[in-house]
Formats: sequence, C-alpha cells, structure tokens
Amino acid sequence: MKALRTSIAAIIIAALLLTLALLVYAMLRNRPQDLPWTKLDLSQPVGMFTGRKLTGLTDDFPACRAALDKAGIRYTALPPRTEGEGCGYTDAVRFTKGGARRIGFAPADLGVSCPVAAGLAVWEWEVVQPAAQRIFGQRVAEIEHFGSYNCRRMYNREGASWSEHATADAVDIAAFRLADGTRITLIGDWAGEGKKAQFLRAVRDGGCDLFATVLSPDYNEAHRDHFHFDQAERGAMGWRACR
Ligand SMILES: [Zn+2]
Repeated sequence: MKALRTSIAAIIIAALLLTLALLVYAMLRNRPQDLPWTKLDLSQPVGMFTGRKLTGLTDDFPACRAALDKAGIRYTALPPRTEGEGCGYTDAVRFTKGGARRIGFAPADLGVSCPVAAGLAVWEWEVVQPAAQRIFGQRVAEIEHFGSYNCRRMYNREGASWSEHATADAVDIAAFRLADGTRITLIGDWAGEGKKAQFLRAVRDGGCDLFATVLSPDYNEAHRDHFHFDQAERGAMGWRACR
C-alpha cells in the first residue's frame, strides 16, 4: 500500500514537471533567440544565445553571409588574404552604404570578419541607437574606429598568441558622433558620471552580449582610448570576456 502511494506520488510529480517544461518551452517559442538550437536572425532582439550564435558564425562564412543578407545589410566580400604563418582571412566583408544599417564608420573602409560585422549590426540596432535615444534623445550618425585587420601578436609581444586582429576577427572602437555633431570619445569621456560616460558604459555592457571578448578602459591602460570587440572562436564554447 505504501509502495503504491509512493509510485502514485512519483507519477504526479513527473507529470507536473513535464507540464512545467512544456509551458516554459511554449513561452520561449516566442523568443527563439533564447533557445540554443534556433537559427540566428540578426533582426531579432538580443537573446540568451545571440552572442554564442554570432561567434559560432566564425567557421561558416556562407551562413554568416546569409544572415547579413536576410537582415538587409549591404556589404562587399573582400578577397581572401594570407600573410605569414598566423595572419590573413577568408571571411572578411566591408559595409557599403544604404540598407538596414544607418551608422557610418570613420574611416569608411572598415573591413572586418563576417561575424564581427554581424555583431556590429546588431549592436547598432539593439544597443547603440537605443542608448543614444534614451540618453541624448537623438541617434548616433558615425562611429570612429582604429581598424580591424592587423598582422600582429597580442600587445605586439614576441611569442604571444596571434591577436584576433590578425584574422580581422576584432575591431577597435574609439568614438561616436551624434546626429547633432556631438562627439563622445573613449579617451575623454569614459571617466565620470555624466551622460557621455553613461552612454559609453551602456554600449560597452550591451557589446558583451554580442562579442566573445569586450575590453574597455576598465580593463587596462592599453585600452584607455578604445573598446576592443572580437569574435574569438573559443567564445562559441562559452569562454567569453567582458571587462
Ligand atoms: Zn583590439
């Protein structure tokens, strides 16, 4: 009798758990970006797995290009490049004018790996513009950068690992220009509590959901004047850094 009661209780608990799991699943179905197995759609809000899916595009150029195309991003694919033992790329693109992206880059000829480009597009739509609207009541018109591809090792140290810049899998962001011309720079505006500092922190934090590595002036002196964003492949496995 006791054994029967125990097994009935077990069946009831199992049924309740199953119902709960189904409910959670149904809820999540309206947010496919929160599920690990759905395909990445760049035009959706940032979800729990968006960052890992973006980084996961690192070894799939066709899937990455398909994601850019589907989101209405205009770009040209750059010819593959090899340089020495650790440098070069086969999946770099350059944004071109028009399409779903509105922010210009200065210098304009920014070439980045496709997963970095995809991350920058989602960052513009879901992080940078909402933060600018919230804090300044206007949009960002232009982002100033220090470039992407650079055949070098980390911190230019001999024997160090190759930088993500050596494969165009990284970009360094230095400043933002708002629609009214106001300039917000990492070197001048990171410190303090003002609106510009608030904005820079918001776009850094939002970047952490989209890039495998985000390094800011909080990290070290070498990053006092720029954000380093990269899509290091280990980021798809969960080795992510946000500093
Ligand atoms: Zn960098």
